[in-house]
Order: sequence, then structure tokens, then C-alpha cells
Amino acid sequence: MSKKKEIHEVGELTEKVSTYIDNKEDLDLLEKTYQFAYQKHKGQFRKSGEEYIIHPLNVAYILTDIYADRETIQAALLHDVLEDCDCTREEMENLFGKEVTHLVEGVTKLSKINFSTENEYLIEYYKKIIVGISEDVRVIIIKLADRLHNMRTLWALPEEKQKIKAKESMEILAPIAHHLGIHKIKSELEDLSLRYLKPDIFYDIAEKLNTSKLERDKTVLEMQEIVSKLLKDFNISHEIKGRAKSIYSIYNKLSKGKKFSDIYDLHALRILVNTEQECYVALGIIHSKFRPLPNRFKDYVAMPKPNMYQSLHTTVFGLDGYLFEIQIRTYDMDEIAENGIASHWAYKEKKDAKANMQSTTEQKLQFFKSIMDLSSDKLSSEEFVNSVKDEVLNDNIYVFTPKGDIIELPKDATPIDFAYKVHTKVGETMIGAIVNNSIVPLDYKLQNNDIVKINTNKASKPSKEWINLVKSTHTKNKIRAYFTKNEREIYMERGKESLEKALRKKKLSFAEFLNDENIKEIKAEIKVKNLEEIYLVIGNGKYAPNTIINIITKEEQQKPKVPKVGSQNIENNADIIVSGIDQVRVNLAQCCNPIFGDDIIGYITMGNGITVHRSNCHNLVSLEERNVEVSWNQNQNKRYLTCLLIHTTSSDDHMLDLIQKTSILDMPVDSVKTIGKTGKLIYEVKIYVRNIDHLNKLIVELNNQPYIDKIERIQR
Ligand code: MN
Repeated sequence: MSKKKEIHEVGELTEKVSTYIDNKEDLDLLEKTYQFAYQKHKGQFRKSGEEYIIHPLNVAYILTDIYADRETIQAALLHDVLEDCDCTREEMENLFGKEVTHLVEGVTKLSKINFSTENEYLIEYYKKIIVGISEDVRVIIIKLADRLHNMRTLWALPEEKQKIKAKESMEILAPIAHHLGIHKIKSELEDLSLRYLKPDIFYDIAEKLNTSKLERDKTVLEMQEIVSKLLKDFNISHEIKGRAKSIYSIYNKLSKGKKFSDIYDLHALRILVNTEQECYVALGIIHSKFRPLPNRFKDYVAMPKPNMYQSLHTTVFGLDGYLFEIQIRTYDMDEIAENGIASHWAYKEKKDAKANMQSTTEQKLQFFKSIMDLSSDKLSSEEFVNSVKDEVLNDNIYVFTPKGDIIELPKDATPIDFAYKVHTKVGETMIGAIVNNSIVPLDYKLQNNDIVKINTNKASKPSKEWINLVKSTHTKNKIRAYFTKNEREIYMERGKESLEKALRKKKLSFAEFLNDENIKEIKAEIKVKNLEEIYLVIGNGKYAPNTIINIITKEEQQKPKVPKVGSQNIENNADIIVSGIDQVRVNLAQCCNPIFGDDIIGYITMGNGITVHRSNCHNLVSLEERNVEVSWNQNQNKRYLTCLLIHTTSSDDHMLDLIQKTSILDMPVDSVKTIGKTGKLIYEVKIYVRNIDHLNKLIVELNNQPYIDKIERIQR
């Protein structure tokens, strides 16, 4: 492991920054920021005995390795000031502006977690990281640098604390660095964690590497010269680097059952060229001179890894019969391989680096999509966090479609997970799977690099059994959703049948009854959109078929009765108590969406059961004779969907902030729509809340935000 530089003067920082930010004002601002942080931390010392300021200074310095922008470096210098010093948000904002303050606040939030059990702590920690990534991924990058410096100076802490920090770094922060593609930080975090978690193994590997180093270096250097000459003969301009393997990567191979000798004898080279085409030409030249090891060639250029990594990999029998692992890639690919998402700082579109970084995170990184998919699945906090940890961040496998696209899946995923990940429709119509040219059962556990082909049949349908065969929570939810969707279709068929039957009894023609004019009248009367929905409201029991027929025939309406239904028919609505009646079908009205704690009134429907409205619902006005008293059952523990119209004061986008606020209050979001694309934005937000107090917490919190104009609860 190479010795990492620790700096002590701000001059060393600005000098490094000036190698890529060529602007006197920016550099002066960094100096000023440092002086401010220095004053604030004055008199504070780290466990190592050093002045505290050395820590933020070096966190900033680590970020210069990945060419962080000026704001990010400022935030790194200030990252502990809000929490540990006498400094207010306002003071910081006045001096350094909104953007920097926002970043510092993001980092501060991440470290402010205090929960009794390890599980609660983890849940909160993951949630905050996820919110951080979706708000401004730079917050997480600063956090990674912060942790890296703390790991470098971990020796100063007591052993028990060392283990805790090392475990957390290994299990949470290194995987996040990996998924963001920031290899430099990921790799060093892993090595440092291993050193504290398994010191025996760590030093054993380090020593073995050291003793064989001289000889290996000599062989690598000779091979480097031969390959370089070869490429020159073909006019390919290039650079070749010998490549040190990380101690952790060796440990990893050992723990997968490889032999020491196999790993140590493996030498590594990296070749950098200018164009993608030259990657392949260089590969051809090398293969023509050195025999490649079968099955070791991988083309991540045509098929990038889910964290955007691109490179050609091959292993050849090289000089003196030693095996050489060779990576070939362009300079651009190398930048992405080393710095991942942070490479936007180093490259071309530097001006919009911040925006590009965020949109790349959201659009290109599969792990972010997977996390967002999970967050839309209405899981409990604990399920959500466990799924993120087990299925997204850790232990993934990579398999291929027949076209060569890489699909990332959780370990132990089956062909059904694969099919659904490719496309829901593929999942829903799959009839079998072929892996590496052999038919496999549907519960086959996919392995890294499997090539998976899914056979489908348009007429085929999913089976409920599959829920037990799949690994990913998101797939499970998709299969469940299919069956709920299908219930809708069943209801529609049922509704159509009972309408036909009722019409026959009255000796009316089905076709004549459902002429365009009549359909129009029914739609208007019961407020549905189309014929299918008319069938649906009959099929699901909201309206009796005769009620629908009466709309057209205008027959005297019968006095409604409250129908009793058998207990097997009671839907999950035991949250309402109807005075004097035990078993009755109860629905919450879709127009005003009552939630626990609202003042409510029951309305006896013509068809089936009681619909519960808020007592101020405007749909209730003319219906007094059918009202019945209802109340909330205190013993329930459900969530209620409610819809808010949030009026803001500007055209700035506050969606992420809204989602963050609801997430902190543990309110799953059903949907967020932006209304009015110009002028002041209005959001229509549907969320699940526990009760009226829970909802009021959000409203109070939002009303404290300067960008909020007013908030309405929607009634239709
Ligand atoms: Mn810190």
C-alpha cells in the first residue's frame, strides 16, 4: 500500500487545487474558508493529539485527488463546523453562500444519528445516505472522504471503536463508493477496514507481497518494455503502468478458495490508449504474441459494468511463463474507472459538472434505480433498509442477456428475477429459461457471468408460486401487483355478467341498454370514465346492477338497506366502527380520503355497504337521510392515503426536499406530480400517513419552509 500524504498547511491544499482550478478568486475563497474553519476549531484537538483543523484540511485534500469543485472543497473544510463549533447556519450562509451551506448541512445530518439499537441506527443511516444521494451526490462524496481520513487516523481510537468504524466502512461506505464508481476511495477504505478487522491476515498478506515485490517488479518491468515496443511497431501511442493489487482484493480471492501461489504469481499491467478502436487493436496484437488463457477475456468496453466501468480484461502467458492480467482502456475510461461519478469534475463539461453528476447518478447507475424502485414499493423502513443492504449494495452478481447487456442482480437471484428486471412484460409471460445453452429450472440460482435467455409465450401468465422462488423484493412486489391488477379484471368480468343477468330478468336487451347515449348518462351519474369502469363498480360491489339500470329506466329507487355480509367478505377495513352494526362492508370514500382521526360520517350506498366520508365532504350535502354514524376503531394500525396540494412561491424545483421531508416523517410517497410548469410550482403529493396528527406534523414542517405558499388537502 502506498503511503498517503497528510498535509498540515492550507498552502499545500491550494497548491494542489491550482493544478486543476485556474482561478485566483476561487483559490482566495478557499484560503478564506480555511481561515474561518481554523478560527472556529481553535482550541479543539483530535484523539491523535493534533489540532482539529488538520482533519477537515485533509478531508479537503483527499477530495482534490478526484478533482472536486471549489464548493465541495469549501464544504469539506467546513464540514464539522456546524456541528461542533459555535457557528450558525446563517453565519455560514452569509459568508459562503447557500450552495456550500447546503452541502455542509447534508454532511452534518449524516453524522447526527443517535439510536439505541444497532438496527435502528442502521435504518436511519441508510435512509439519510439515500436521501443524500438523491439530493446532491456531492454530500455523499464528502462523507466518503471524511470517513477515509478518519480511517487513516483510526489508530488513535480504542480498539472497540476501531472495530465498529471498520465494520461500518466495510459494509456500508465502501459498497457505496464502489457503486458510485469511486475506486480510489473504495479500495483504500477496504484495505484500511481489513487492517482493523482482520489484522493477522492483513499483515500476513502485506508481508508476502513485500518479500516477492522486488522480483515481481523486475518481471513486470521487462514485460512492460516488450509490450510497449510491440504497440509502437503498430503506431499505437500508449502508456503502460504496472498495477498494484490491493490487499483486500487478494484477501477476497483467498477467501474464495484460491491458492496463495496462484494469486502472487499473477502479474498485472494496465495499458492506456487514445481510442476505443485502439483498445481492440492493442488486444489483438497482444494475443497474437502471447497466448491468452481461455475464458478469461472480458469485454467491458462494449458492455460496461453497472457502475459505468469500461475496460478490456485478458490474462496471457507472458514473460518466463508468468501469467499476466492485462487491462486495456482509453484515458477517458481510466478516469471513469478510477473516479466514477466524480469524473464529471475532471472532464469536458466541467461547467455543468454538478448537474451532470446528479443526472448520471439517477440515470446511469443501476444501483440508484434499484434503490428508487424499492422506495416506491411501500415497504416498512426495516424491510426497505434490509433490501437495500442485501440486494442492492452487497453481494451482487452480474449476468448477461443474449445480446450482451449486463444485468445486476442480488446474489441467489433466479431466472424469474432476471426476466422481471429486463422487463415486467418479459417476466409476466415467461415460460422457461436457458442459461449458458442449457434449460434450467425456474428456481435455478444464477451465477456470475451466466448468459440468460428467457422463453416467453404471450398467452402465459405468472404463478403465485413465483413469489417464493424470487430473491429480489422488487420482483416480489411486481408479481404481487400483477395479481392485484388481475383482480380488477376479474371484477370487471363479474360486473358485466351480473349486469347482463339483471337486464335479462327485466327482459331488457343488453346491447340496446348499453347504447352510447345510455353509457354517457351512467358515466355522468356515477362519475366514472368508461364502460369498463361501469363493469368494475358493479363487480366490486360498489353499485348493484339494478342501481345502474335504474339510472336509465328511472324506476322508483328502493329505500336502501344496510346489507349484512358474511365475515369472509369483510375487507381489511376493521378500522371503522359502525354504530349498532357488526358486520358490514365499509369503504373509505375516494373523494375526500378520510384518514384516522378525521371527523367522519357513513353513507349507506344503494349497492353494497357503507362508504365513509369526511364530515365536511361536499359530496355529502344532499344525502342526509342515508347517513349513519361511524367512528374510528382505536385498535387499528393502518396507513391512509391522503392527497395534498402544495403551493410554492417560485418556479424552483423543491420535489426532492418534499420527498426528504416525508421520508424523515416515515410517510411513504405514492406519487408526486408537478402542476403548472411555468410560474409558481404546485405539487400534488399523495402520501400514506398514520393519522391526522401524523399528517399535521408534515404540514407544520412544510409551513416553516420559506418556499411554501399554502397547503390544501384535496377533496373531489
Ligand atoms: Mn469529519
